[in-house]
Amino acid sequence: MFDASTGGFYTLPMPELPEVETVRSAMECHLLGRPITRVRVSTKRLREPLPRAALRSLVGDCFAAARRRAKFLLLDLQSGRTLLVHLGMSGNLLLRPWGTKHDHVGFEFADGGAVAFNDPRRFGLVLVLGEGEEDTCRYLQNLGPEPLSRAFNARYLQAQCQRRKSPIKNLIMDNHTVVGVGNIYASEALFRARIHPATPAAAIDPLRLALLAKEIKKVLRVAIDQGGTTISDYQGSGAGGRFQQRLHVYGRQGEDCRVCDAPIESFYLGGRNTFYCPSCQ
Ligand SMILES: [Zn+2]
Repeated sequence: MFDASTGGFYTLPMPELPEVETVRSAMECHLLGRPITRVRVSTKRLREPLPRAALRSLVGDCFAAARRRAKFLLLDLQSGRTLLVHLGMSGNLLLRPWGTKHDHVGFEFADGGAVAFNDPRRFGLVLVLGEGEEDTCRYLQNLGPEPLSRAFNARYLQAQCQRRKSPIKNLIMDNHTVVGVGNIYASEALFRARIHPATPAAAIDPLRLALLAKEIKKVLRVAIDQGGTTISDYQGSGAGGRFQQRLHVYGRQGEDCRVCDAPIESFYLGGRNTFYCPSCQ
């Protein structure tokens, strides 16, 4: 969903998998097949320094495909190179020319169109991968399956949880287990599967784990259909994604559970604010 108030495809803060997928499909609509006539690069450092020469060498090239792996955008070019983009905490791709504060990379196209990578907090990443470099790129190694793929299923999750004492929420948020399940969607899927987030993974009944695998897919699919979630100061507000209207626990501490009326509680788990219903879970 394009949010005119911010000029982006989701509203801040942190993009999770559904938001990245929303940006991916927008890039697929707007970027492909348009020859690049100019590339602007800032001197600021993101998570890594911007590869200025490699980015500028994309003039004359043309985006040919927009893919996603975990929360990485892989924008393939006709030349065989790939633009690797991670939105970090606050990054966004905006359909407008370069020139605003916090713009770090800008592309202009032959037909007058433009796209800018804007990132106030600079935890994002923009790299150019040469042909074949994707297989050795350190960011793309050792990643678990995509949550919406067939490889992520009940049997897989049950196997991952065997003999694992770590809290189930930490396990499903670990990219080695499954990619792209962030704090919002982990909290929501655990609520829907009626599992307390701190339960040791190995202690959970296999049937409940099967339900959890199903609920993870379901919350992500619904969020993608809704254009992602917008959270502002832990309260759903503003334009952008509409998934926040469906949140059961995330950001709702002190509010009534939509199922049993008990107040939603929160605590820190693995350094992340974690929301749950003490009665349902
Ligand atoms: Zn409840």
